Amino acid sequence: MSTDMKPQPMGQTLEETWLKRPLPTIKPRAKQILTAVETEPSTQCPNCNSIITNTALIFNNYVCPSCDEHLSMTARTRLNWFFDQVDDELGQQYQAGNPLDFVDSKPYPTRMSEAQAKTGETEALIVMKGKLQRLPVVACAFDFAFMGGSMGSVVGDRFVLAAETALKEQIPLVCFAASGGARMQEGLLSLMQMARTAAAIEKLKHANIPYIVVLTNPVYGGVTASLAMLGDIHLAEPKAMIGFAGKRVIEQTVREVLGEPFQRAEFLVEHGVVDQVVHRLQMKETIHRLLKKMTYFRQAH
Ligand SMILES: [Zn+2]
Repeated sequence: MSTDMKPQPMGQTLEETWLKRPLPTIKPRAKQILTAVETEPSTQCPNCNSIITNTALIFNNYVCPSCDEHLSMTARTRLNWFFDQVDDELGQQYQAGNPLDFVDSKPYPTRMSEAQAKTGETEALIVMKGKLQRLPVVACAFDFAFMGGSMGSVVGDRFVLAAETALKEQIPLVCFAASGGARMQEGLLSLMQMARTAAAIEKLKHANIPYIVVLTNPVYGGVTASLAMLGDIHLAEPKAMIGFAGKRVIEQTVREVLGEPFQRAEFLVEHGVVDQVVHRLQMKETIHRLLKKMTYFRQAH
């Protein structure tokens, strides 16, 4: 029954009754508060799927605040984080050639241009000289986003230059490795870099110059088989995958199912391939402490 049909109280007009009727309560609309992840550029953690703002990620050195997953860093970001003061960048003069005119689904120069446009870098290895808490160090870092951090002739050139600079200035060398291996587009020239880099490291050893390798996720192929396994000390980031051939290839060869921790940094510590797994937030301090001890004699005398 509608309101109009109700009998009117005595002495009241329809308008008066209408004005006196109880009004329905109006609930205020819930104020929508936008969280930071909805307004800022964000990244999804590949492990726990939580959304992290890029600002929070940078402040936490690309470690997920929810699950401690170590997300990948670009080579330049890593070196800028590692050094307290950057003095110089080395090896920018080297440019890759195309000696084999290699074409797979795309010509090699096209792949290079695409990688350069994507990363803003000219090659897969960045070398810098600077200070780690006042300790002079040469450090290089692989950029996995640049053609899988593959080692071509320019990567070899830059690494050898880094080692020669460390030798000339009698300062330690640190390498942050992240690579899929040798660069197939350069064929044999790419494989030759294994011998070149190994020879450069050998010169450092003869001169008692410390060389520390930090294995980050992932390190495979020709890089594992050369410069990444020739350090005086091998540190690794948690859960980093490190090996020569991939797990599937080995399983097919040995006809055995290999367990989950196979090729993980923690598994390799147990088997003597890696000396220590170090959390990224403690990495700088650990490297500094090790280098101070390794160069003590040089500093004291
Ligand atoms: Zn996470």
